[in-house]
Amino acid sequence: MRQDRHVTPAPPPGSGGLPDPYTPGHGSPDYTVAHYDLDLEVKLASNRLAGRARLRATANRRLETITLSLAGLRVLKAQVEGARAKAVQRGDELRITPATPVPEGRDFSLEVRYEGSPGPTDGEWGDVGWEELEDGILVAGQPVGAPTWFPCNDHPSQKATFRISASADAGYRVVSNGLVVGHRRKASRETWIYEVHEPMAPYLATLLIGRFQLLELGRLPRREYPAVGVFAAVPPALRQDALTGLRDQQAMLALFTDLFGPYPFRDYTVVVTEDELEIPLEAQTLSIVGRNHITRSWESQRLLAHELAHQWFGNSVTARTWEDIWLHEGFACYAEWLWSEHAGQGSVASRAEAAWTLVAAQRQDLAVGAPGAAMMFDDRVYKRGALALHAVRRVLGDDRFFRALRAFCEENRHANASTADFLELLDRVGAGAPGFEAHAVLRPWLFEGPLPPLPA
Ligand SMILES: [Zn+2]
Repeated sequence: MRQDRHVTPAPPPGSGGLPDPYTPGHGSPDYTVAHYDLDLEVKLASNRLAGRARLRATANRRLETITLSLAGLRVLKAQVEGARAKAVQRGDELRITPATPVPEGRDFSLEVRYEGSPGPTDGEWGDVGWEELEDGILVAGQPVGAPTWFPCNDHPSQKATFRISASADAGYRVVSNGLVVGHRRKASRETWIYEVHEPMAPYLATLLIGRFQLLELGRLPRREYPAVGVFAAVPPALRQDALTGLRDQQAMLALFTDLFGPYPFRDYTVVVTEDELEIPLEAQTLSIVGRNHITRSWESQRLLAHELAHQWFGNSVTARTWEDIWLHEGFACYAEWLWSEHAGQGSVASRAEAAWTLVAAQRQDLAVGAPGAAMMFDDRVYKRGALALHAVRRVLGDDRFFRALRAFCEENRHANASTADFLELLDRVGAGAPGFEAHAVLRPWLFEGPLPPLPA
């Protein structure tokens, strides 16, 4: 049905994958944001947000207007290079007209003050973005949730560094991406400041506010950098459950470091919400799981492995366009199987056979390498994507296969990659393997309907 999607012409080179037909209206090729500086004031009882976003950006062409995404919040004031600018909001689009156009190639600053009662946007993928919990909030950014809490150039190809300062009622902990660089308490308010030094796609930015306690689960030494700190932010009542449920996090981190290369960030934190969550959420340096995801069951443990693997596949190496989402989900699903084998929960071969049987019983009308916007989080993108990797591994052999995965992470660290980049890399690494041609192996898995048999 959607098999013809893969012939969609790719966006022109240099456009950063924009415009992206999967998320029309999100992301602009006209400018590149280098840094977001967010100051947020959150009132939990009334769910009010007052924000000031200061962006540093570069004009990729002469800018008479600057288009950002901002959903459900009202702009009070906008400035470009310190001068008052006109702001017009239409739907989720924010158009800022500077007093004088920004010349092509010029670095510029942009400041937006805004406020409102944030909430999720509902679309093709259900509710995404800012969400009120029983006692706190969370942000589910993927794929278009970022504009529900800050104005941004909303696309996975538009990575930037961040400083996120958020204040909330005293007694609550604010958790966000990167490292805590400041924390102060004043009267009835507490402010937490985070810095993200590795470029981050806006959808991977998150904010959680809750009655969290921070637990250190362990540290994983690494050669050239400080050890990776592994933490959990949990409601005090869930402390014991979290310590039990999350006790393999360090071993998972060690395994994935062996297989995929160094952990791409400084620390890693699993945030456990007081509420149950339908699915866990990935964010840069964080995973967000519900209280229902910290059991010892395989279903919980596979999800924990899956979310951790996204730090390599999705967060550090991010798809250039949403069409390449299998580069996140197929790889993270394959990481589940790798953990399964390591943990004595079933070999990769048995997991692959089970997945093959499951996918074979479903309709075979989806090209997982070009699933279309509506189907990009379909289970087949995950499982058949993982099967595609297993097919490559069987043809290439373990040594070359894992060398290719590590090279993919290394070459595209904190950047963007496409399926074409992965194929090119496989051909390079597979050059010595007799008769190997990446496109020939992967095409039936990624771009054709009928499910191919797994290579012997
Ligand atoms: Zn995933």
